[in-house]
Amino acid sequence: MRCAMAGAFFLLAAVSAVQGQQQPAESRNPNAPAAPQPAGSASPANQKKITEAAKAANSPAPGDHNFWDRENDLLFAGVGAGRALDYASTLNLRRRGLNEVFLTNSIVDNHPLFAGIEVAATAASIGVSYLFHRTGHHRLERWTSAIHAGVAAGGAIRNYALKTPH
Ligand SMILES: [Zn+2]
Repeated sequence: MRCAMAGAFFLLAAVSAVQGQQQPAESRNPNAPAAPQPAGSASPANQKKITEAAKAANSPAPGDHNFWDRENDLLFAGVGAGRALDYASTLNLRRRGLNEVFLTNSIVDNHPLFAGIEVAATAASIGVSYLFHRTGHHRLERWTSAIHAGVAAGGAIRNYALKTPH
């Protein structure tokens, strides 16, 4: 949301800058009727205000933190561990002749491909966290990793718990 607002501010600032540049050309033509001014668009003071607002929206909010801080390092390690557990437990389940429910068996049985999917899932999770971080949703940013790690670990436990058919 904050990111969208920053974009809107930037657009406003750009539009008023363009309008500011066009004005001298218009005022040089004495026959041209005075162009109606949209409220709050033209004066340099307003432009400055908008530029400052855009700057404020882009700068880190109070209570902001480095994306690669200790908490995120641990959370991402947790996601990676969860995905590794999922990988190991799914291969264990396949060795026991059970079927993978979420992916097709042909993907899971292609071990480098399956490992790549686990890595991609970890990377995607970090990417989502980063988006939340950049948009100022630091709580969602942490929860993305925490829930992902939890779901992956939970799935691994379920995989190991499945009974081998005899
Ligand atoms: Zn953050």
